[in-house]
Amino acid sequence: MVTTTRREDGTWYECEDCGMLFDEEADAEAHEGHCDTDSPSYLQ
Ligand SMILES: [Zn+2]
Repeated sequence: MVTTTRREDGTWYECEDCGMLFDEEADAEAHEGHCDTDSPSYLQ
């Protein structure tokens, strides 16, 4: 699921499954829809 993280530089939206951070809630939700932690394809 997507969680909200408040930091000094603003509010971030984090994908709990893989830990990716987004500055737009819509982007985080879109990512969540196709997040697949079983086949990591993201470079962090
Ligand atoms: Zn994810």
